[in-house]
Amino acid sequence: MKTRVRFAPSPTGPLHIGGLRTALFNYLFARKNNGVFILRVEDTDQNRYVEGSEAYIQKSLEWAGMVPDEGPFNGGEFGPYRQSERKEIYKEYIDLLIQKGGAYYAFDKTEDLSNERAAAESEGRTFLYGAQNRMLFDNSLNLSPEETAEKIKGDYVVRLKVEPGQNVTVFDEIRGTIHLDSSLLDDKILMKSDGMPTYHFANVVDDHLMQISCVIRGEEWLPSLPIHQLIYNAFGWKEPKFMHLPLILKPSGKGKLSKRDGDKDGFPVFPMQWDENSSGFKEKGFIASGFINYLALLGWNSGTEQEIFTMAELEKLFNLEGIQKGGARFDYEKAKWVNHQHLQLLEAKTLVQEAAVQEQLIGIDPNKHIDLIKLLKERLFTINDLKEEVHWVKAPFPMDEKIASKLSSKNPQNLLKEISNNIETMEELSDLKERLMTWSKENEIPVGILMQSLRMALVGKLTGPDLFEICKVLGKDVTLKRIDQAISYFNLKSKSL
Ligand code: GLU
Repeated sequence: MKTRVRFAPSPTGPLHIGGLRTALFNYLFARKNNGVFILRVEDTDQNRYVEGSEAYIQKSLEWAGMVPDEGPFNGGEFGPYRQSERKEIYKEYIDLLIQKGGAYYAFDKTEDLSNERAAAESEGRTFLYGAQNRMLFDNSLNLSPEETAEKIKGDYVVRLKVEPGQNVTVFDEIRGTIHLDSSLLDDKILMKSDGMPTYHFANVVDDHLMQISCVIRGEEWLPSLPIHQLIYNAFGWKEPKFMHLPLILKPSGKGKLSKRDGDKDGFPVFPMQWDENSSGFKEKGFIASGFINYLALLGWNSGTEQEIFTMAELEKLFNLEGIQKGGARFDYEKAKWVNHQHLQLLEAKTLVQEAAVQEQLIGIDPNKHIDLIKLLKERLFTINDLKEEVHWVKAPFPMDEKIASKLSSKNPQNLLKEISNNIETMEELSDLKERLMTWSKENEIPVGILMQSLRMALVGKLTGPDLFEICKVLGKDVTLKRIDQAISYFNLKSKSL
């Protein structure tokens, strides 16, 4: 059987990283097995439909490099791929199921059911519309065919007829066999009064018609599996394989990761920006390959020590055995570390072309861009870190007063003057290091103080990339000017002491 998998999001808002992880595992499973990756938009719940989410899903998949083989944007022979466009198909199959005796019409008024529910709750019971009480309600099981034919001219829903006392057996590739007593299930609504199918019905019909070989989705859908199995059974269809992925947990490991966790701790939970209140990994300076690699590690491991993978490697290595049962704890520091590793895999001349990089380099001589990226790449965890890292190119940081005061007692201005004299005589700064090292040795000047003085003069603080590389990027004139300014600064400081 050909591998056909689908990612089936509901357009109810931005895609959470959990959703994108589901898409990724589907995508990888398809690529690994020479299969087909399908996007199906599950938009039958009109009340929850949010404008813009479908376009957001498309953009996010594109950014992440997971373009579907079939879907609403590029078509395919199993379309339409938007459930709202498949109404007639569901109607045909609901009629078939009713004919087979697997479903029935129900005409109950919402308020009647609400009263029943309230009454049950007041007695501490859960209200279930099912085998034990369905004969008490207003449905086609209690009516003659003629009465039913008359009543379906008005409003109705269609319910699944769950036979009580059956041992429903389902099999999940990750969790194994699960049994459930069908008496615990209610007669789920399959078709709503607006003629739209519910999630359960549309999902099963589409997975069957689209010849899905394996359903890969989040663990939150596991409780729905027995209902889906009963629908497959009622039709007499063979069910696909099922794989329910572990939840993505909060950094604390306690409970499911939510947007609120991200807002509280300052990390994104969406792939890209959704609105001004929720930016994404992309806007935080992640590159797609780093983001995807981290997503893959949320619930999967290769069985080796290796943690850094390109998409091509993941497509080859991804396997079922590597998927864990337990929840996967989200760790933003780890995500940044993975992104850092991916930034190192890119050559400076490639990285420099990223729009986000260009944005951070505005105002800096383009001739210096590649050298700067070469110099700073190893210091970057996200592209956004570049902002702080290139600060010294545009202007030195304001002097770190604490360090400057400590250094003042060593008369850095005298040293700086000597350094400046040395530089004055040089054509270019490429052998500055050697020159200063020899000079400090000959004059018994502690290298530490020398380097600190020069770094403070050029950058204003003691951290940053290689000092002599900084000099090269700044060039002779700017280096001399900054040293001059630092000399005045330290002179003033020593006078005020
Ligand atoms: N539409 C469901 C969702 O939004 C899909 C569940 C499934 O994959 O079966 O997650």
